[in-house]
Amino acid sequence: MGFLNKILGKKERNEAPILPAPYSHVVLLPRWESVEEMGNEEKIAGYTCESCQESFSPEAGRELQKLEADRFRREMTRGAES
Ligand SMILES: [Zn+2]
Repeated sequence: MGFLNKILGKKERNEAPILPAPYSHVVLLPRWESVEEMGNEEKIAGYTCESCQESFSPEAGRELQKLEADRFRREMTRGAES
């Protein structure tokens, strides 16, 4: 968690916070350096958020996707209970 907090904390200091939570980057599109590598998960050069066009490193992108997946799972569980 410290890793992600560091990134997001740094970002907030450098520019005006547009998004209220780290969970706002819902759709992260992977990008590749070359066309030949497209589709190869191991060759992903980074991620771009579809809604705000923010770029992320592969590590940050994967971390955000994991957080989003966890949140989604929690919401699904909550929905099933109520
Ligand atoms: Zn975003």
